[in-house]
Amino acid sequence: MIRPLIAATLAFALVAPVADAADEVVVYSARNEHLIKPLFDHYTAQTGVAVRYVTDKEGPLLQRLKAEGARTPADMLITVDAGNLWYAAESGVLAGIDSPVLNANVPANLRDPQGRWFGLSERARTIVYSTERVKPQELSTYEDLADPKWKGRLCLRTSKKVYNQSLVATLIARLGEDRAEQIVRGWVDNLAAAPFSNDTKAMEAVAAGQCDVTIVNTYYFGRLEKKQPDIKLAIFWPNQQTSGVHINVSGAGVTAHAKHPDAARQLLEWLSSEEAQVDFAGLNLEYPVNPKVATDPIVAAWGEFKADALNVNEAGRLQADAIRLMDRAGYR
Ligand code: FE
Repeated sequence: MIRPLIAATLAFALVAPVADAADEVVVYSARNEHLIKPLFDHYTAQTGVAVRYVTDKEGPLLQRLKAEGARTPADMLITVDAGNLWYAAESGVLAGIDSPVLNANVPANLRDPQGRWFGLSERARTIVYSTERVKPQELSTYEDLADPKWKGRLCLRTSKKVYNQSLVATLIARLGEDRAEQIVRGWVDNLAAAPFSNDTKAMEAVAAGQCDVTIVNTYYFGRLEKKQPDIKLAIFWPNQQTSGVHINVSGAGVTAHAKHPDAARQLLEWLSSEEAQVDFAGLNLEYPVNPKVATDPIVAAWGEFKADALNVNEAGRLQADAIRLMDRAGYR
């Protein structure tokens, strides 16, 4: 009669060392080291769980995950933009997880409906204008930047960047492909200069008088404002009477072949918690996804806005259409 008990004890003894190995999580991150290391250090100090990580651009990290397949050491992928997260999920490298904690902490429009990725910070892609040459009353929507009144006054970042692909994807989702193409053609007609390689250069061109308006992620505006507090630029929140400001996320998912899936889920849950969200968003001047967490004061000073309620997953689903559309419209 005692045998089953012994067998159970032996089984436990065999399983126990494997459970101990979960005292670490391996992360592949396209989010910069200086934005994640303080959080991982905090987590390790609190839980004793070591977090090992590799940082790189999203493309190489995803290629690596795909090439490694079942042999990957990675338990978690962190990357930016719903377009990239969607693509990683479609590539099969992320596992769907059902976590009541994550479902409670991350609003439904900022996560994958199948639980393969969860937004961890929210960024707004909005209009920045010259306070010397533009009155805010002249601005209204992303669509309006296609109006001939902005001819020779618009600067944009390159269409190669996923941020603009996601913005155009949401135009397609809301307005349909034909109307979206008209708008993008209008933007191209209004360009004052060839598209810039990054958001900061586009804003610097506005500040220098090369153009009057641009579209950028707010945290780049925050960084520029920190360096040059007197810069003659301001944020405008477009589409407040209609769809709201285009928002996107940085986020993460547990990998399909995680060696420490429970530990990875627990780290992900912690990153969405009130305790971690202050730094996860604040270190990059972004908005927390967890609605219980207050926004960093520098970011809050830009004012409240109505955000687009569309699920950011749509940005991924329509990404290929957006790329083709921008190509047809001559947006380089
Ligand atoms: Fe960025």
